[in-house]
Amino acid sequence: MKQLHILHLYPNEMNTYGDRGNLLTLKRRAEWHGFQPIIHYYHVGGELPERVDIVLGGGGQDSAQGDIQTDILRIGDQLRTLAEDGTVMLMVCGCYQLFGKRFVTVDKQDIKGIGIFDIETFGGEKRLIGNIKIKTDGFGALFGFENHSGRTYLGQGQLELGSVERGNGNNGEDKTEGARTYNVFGTYMHGPVLPNNPVLADNLIKLAAEKRYGEFTAGKLDDSLAVLARRGAYRRSY
Ligand code: GLN
Repeated sequence: MKQLHILHLYPNEMNTYGDRGNLLTLKRRAEWHGFQPIIHYYHVGGELPERVDIVLGGGGQDSAQGDIQTDILRIGDQLRTLAEDGTVMLMVCGCYQLFGKRFVTVDKQDIKGIGIFDIETFGGEKRLIGNIKIKTDGFGALFGFENHSGRTYLGQGQLELGSVERGNGNNGEDKTEGARTYNVFGTYMHGPVLPNNPVLADNLIKLAAEKRYGEFTAGKLDDSLAVLARRGAYRRSY
């Protein structure tokens, strides 16, 4: 059976608002599409596994982001090489910020990131909280829940993930949400984001499978529960 190796970064520190659900969703959907998912966890001080097809990172508190800063900078070159090689990655909220250039917290702590995204984030007094709906080119409408103090600004030429239809997104001002560089996706959407947006989950699997095996054939899936979840998310986004 074809394997897909999924790496979850900092599962203890970076896992707010149920972001681990992204891992569970990818694992189950990969199985439904006929793959054998192999899960790896990366902890502070550890080593990246030899083979990685998809990398996941979740949200975290400012303090947790400060705690892992030194470590993520240590493995930054390896993550950048994987990204440049087309490895699929999904980084949510706190990890999204750390995949940017820096995050200056509301307490003025300057946390350096690994710079895969050309973004900078600045903490604000008022947190940006609530249901969010965005429009994307490749994946249609995406639904999620956001809760962040950081305002993220995209550098010139940095692609966004989508445009905000409801909610705040990157900064509450310019209607952009998230970022994309190579096959690395960043977003503020918790929920967690993948159970509510199976099209995004399947596209991550498809991109990873095509990179590894040169092809992807979708399995036959019963998505009736995901459809119901999306309906609920749709209602909450208005
Ligand atoms: N601590 C960061 C912020 O508040 C990220 C929050 C999160 O991951 N939910 O902006």
